Amino acid sequence: MQYFLPHTSITDLLIKLHAQGYRCIGPQVQDSCIMYDTITEAKQLPWGTADQQSAGFYQLTESNSQRAFNWANSPSSIKPFLFKQQDTVWRVQRNTEGKISFQPVVEYESLALFGIRPCDLAAMIIQDKVFLESGAVDPRYEARRKALFLIVVNCNAPSANCFCISAGQDVEAKAHFDLAMTEIDSGFVVTGGSEKAAKLIQELKLESASETHKSQAHNQLTQARNLQSKKLPEKKLAQQEDLLNHPHWQEVAQRCFGCGTCTQVCPTCFCHKQSVQTTSDGYEQVREWDSCFSEKHSYVNGAPLRKDVKSRYQQWLCHKMLYWEQQFSCEGCVGCGRCITWCPAQIDVTEELSKLVEK
Ligand code: SF4
Ligand code: SF4
Repeated sequence: MQYFLPHTSITDLLIKLHAQGYRCIGPQVQDSCIMYDTITEAKQLPWGTADQQSAGFYQLTESNSQRAFNWANSPSSIKPFLFKQQDTVWRVQRNTEGKISFQPVVEYESLALFGIRPCDLAAMIIQDKVFLESGAVDPRYEARRKALFLIVVNCNAPSANCFCISAGQDVEAKAHFDLAMTEIDSGFVVTGGSEKAAKLIQELKLESASETHKSQAHNQLTQARNLQSKKLPEKKLAQQEDLLNHPHWQEVAQRCFGCGTCTQVCPTCFCHKQSVQTTSDGYEQVREWDSCFSEKHSYVNGAPLRKDVKSRYQQWLCHKMLYWEQQFSCEGCVGCGRCITWCPAQIDVTEELSKLVEK
């Protein structure tokens, strides 16, 4: 069953979610980018905004429509809401009687993520494998994940860097959401995916979507799929003989700055480091994002294992496209294209992979 949510009812939706205890997060224009931040009213959305993306290039432009979701994706995915850039893992404190206490720290809040992209939902399912399903459950990730209300807005306007279809994903979310919406000129065609969503649809008194609305939404998604021309090569890294000695690693290493920007914008990357930091009354263990492009990330016994950019680029790409497959039976890439857009050296993961599977 599909419903229709007029644009004029978005604020009502946000108010209802707020009343249920959620802080609502949604896309909005900040610092010439679309970013996810607290949202209380529909007017905060990026109405009439489009984005242009190519290798090493991102710019917001005026859209030819007044819709709120006529853009591909933002530099920030939803990753920081689950796997935070900086997180306290445990804390040791001395109380007023001088006794020392040890406390694991799990900080979370109920968040309604409104307007997330299908590629980011797919990336979250991949991160679930790392933080929930690989043996050691991360309690911070688990608590935050359970406290989410997920509202996906399907993708009408993929960028020139998007290749989610070729990466085995889609412009339309099929599962794992509370609400999935496709924007048309007058509002959204909405599908419920959970009991919480069914209750919300009832409270909002949404009417069924008309056949015209449904067909507009369907045609748009077909058009969006056809717009994607960027593709991963059909041949996989695992099929390439003597892969690690391919001469293209050296060629890409000469262009790559080793800056790690690709890992920071990637919705599936999860490298992190931990350190002990002192506080006013004790100390705490802090986990922070790291990058496999950082020399210190492979530090063992006083020296880095991966000494040059070539070995670090190799690690990044092989981890995503080869080792991940061996460990989780899926690739660690959802085709969002962010690593291409935000790479200062205009390195394009699809092009590098194509070269690496050439003989
Ligand atoms: S591929 Fe691009 S973004 Fe990634 S480390 Fe190299 S230069 Fe930086
Ligand atoms: S590797 Fe690049 S295209 Fe793939 S999920 Fe990460 S940022 Fe997106």
